[in-house]
Amino acid sequence: MTEAFGNPGPHRSDAFFLELIDGPQIHLGGIDEVAHAAPCALSRADHQGGYPNRIGAEVTRPAIGTATTYGLCVPSVLWFRRDLRLLDNPALLAAVEAARADGDGRVVPLFVIDPHLWEPAGPVRQEYLVDSLDHLGAAIGRQLLIVHGDPVDLVPHVARTAGADTVHIAADYGPYGSARDTAVQNALEAIDVRLVRTGSSYAVAAGRVTKQDGTAYRVFTPFYRAWLSHGWRAPAAEPPGDIDWWMPLECQGHPTVASTGIDLPEAGEEAAWKRWANFHAAGLSTYDEGRNRPDLDGTSAMSHHLKYGEIHPRSILAELTDADDGFRREICWREFYADVLHQRPDSVRASLDARYDSSMRWVKDEEAFDAWAHGRTGFPFVDAGMRQLRAEGWMHNRVRMVVASFLVKDLHQPWQRGAAEFMHWLRDGDVASNTHGWQWTAGCGTDASPFYRVFNPISQGLKFDPQGDYVRRYIPELRHLTGKTAHEPWDVLGGYEHGYPEPIVDHKAEREVALADFAAIKKG
Ligand SMILES: Cc1cc2nc3c(=O)[nH]c(=O)nc-3n(C[C@H](O)[C@H](O)[C@H](O)COP(=O)(O)OP(=O)(O)OC[C@H]3O[C@@H](n4cnc5c(N)ncnc54)[C@H](O)[C@@H]3O)c2cc1C
Repeated sequence: MTEAFGNPGPHRSDAFFLELIDGPQIHLGGIDEVAHAAPCALSRADHQGGYPNRIGAEVTRPAIGTATTYGLCVPSVLWFRRDLRLLDNPALLAAVEAARADGDGRVVPLFVIDPHLWEPAGPVRQEYLVDSLDHLGAAIGRQLLIVHGDPVDLVPHVARTAGADTVHIAADYGPYGSARDTAVQNALEAIDVRLVRTGSSYAVAAGRVTKQDGTAYRVFTPFYRAWLSHGWRAPAAEPPGDIDWWMPLECQGHPTVASTGIDLPEAGEEAAWKRWANFHAAGLSTYDEGRNRPDLDGTSAMSHHLKYGEIHPRSILAELTDADDGFRREICWREFYADVLHQRPDSVRASLDARYDSSMRWVKDEEAFDAWAHGRTGFPFVDAGMRQLRAEGWMHNRVRMVVASFLVKDLHQPWQRGAAEFMHWLRDGDVASNTHGWQWTAGCGTDASPFYRVFNPISQGLKFDPQGDYVRRYIPELRHLTGKTAHEPWDVLGGYEHGYPEPIVDHKAEREVALADFAAIKKG
């Protein structure tokens, strides 16, 4: 069976750590009329930080149904969000088809810098997104229309200015995104414009894979089986090469971003395909052995490309065979967590097991949190992971589990604090995968990780970084230690002579405290 594109069904509302940030003052009047939109220069020399106080100036405004040199003028709008690509993009094809059916053929490619998402994205994802938008803009002849402000105001304004009768999107299942889309849909309906959802960021749309009784899965392995048997479409057809991209307003460009100093990987659709091709050729066949080794380049590093939709997971799945089941399962984890969040949008903040929020004795210790966040806990594997996060905006999956376990079970701090820290730094920061990665590790989320599983930060290091290379890469104070001794500086004469801190807690003792606390709340 295959997934049908189209309306994803009911929408949810909530927001992930999105503080209510006052948006810019939007003035819809005061429009400059010029003949054609200039190609969008994607830097904003005229705008140093902050948000502009008006949307882009209107440049042409043909009336709906008016015959022009372009034909009968009913273009469509393609609103890009987490789908910054041209290939395998069903919403793009739908936008082109709609525009051509009306006889006009022009498509307005739109991206809205929404303050509700922009501010909490943090400096790493802001920098990455700007790079990705640059690449997308270049791929469509610098015609990407970027505007700043609330999509509920701006999307209808762009549609009305363009004289479009449809706005095309890929469905968003995140709590904020789906609520925003419903609000935009209502605002569009008020001016007789349709919001058309075609496809999504997933191979199988959230909410489609259910148990026989129609309820949602809470355990991964049966979800995986059902997801496999549900199946997914083949990648969408290539878009026509002659799309008439059109900017009916002056592009505002992207906001100025301060460089993070992090050497981020190249963004964009081409870079995504290049990375995928390299991994497919050189890493996929050894993925099962290499995937747990942070000292090796054993994983795909596709998560930031998937997050921004620079490549669709369906395109990746189409190139896998049954021999690649290990990798396919990981792609499915991403879909599973999107599904769980769709079913329980409140789980963005709330533990799926509510007792973790109501009955647990969480500790508020800023000093310990700070030591964890900056990689100064005195546990080399944990510290290397947290330093990797700040150095690269990424952390290996095995180490994500270990540092998360350390915060919750050794420092007894709530998973929500750690999840927020991750979301600030991760270049692949994704609400569903992050929230439920944390909940899984904390033991309050979906299936597998029972509460008594407490990752041992030392033995995990010895097992998955057997020569200590990963630790030495990120912790200069331990570079004088050879081989696996880097994991246990306390056992080596001179182990601390370059200033590495001693352990801030006794892991064995804290493990016992955690087990007692968790057992108590399980008993009720
Ligand atoms: C506490 C915690 C927080 C996490 N936060 C995020 C996050 O914000 N964004 C994010 O994309 N992933 C998150 N993950 C999942 C995982 O760590 C990353 O997807 C993975 O490390 C990305 O590297 P990769 O692309 O090389 O992965 P690969 O091993 O090559 O996997 C291929 C793809 O499968 C998906 N995937 C793999 N493992 C998981 C997983 N456990 N859960 C969901 N999807 C997975 C990703 O899209 C990934 O790109 C988190 C995991 C934990 C334990």
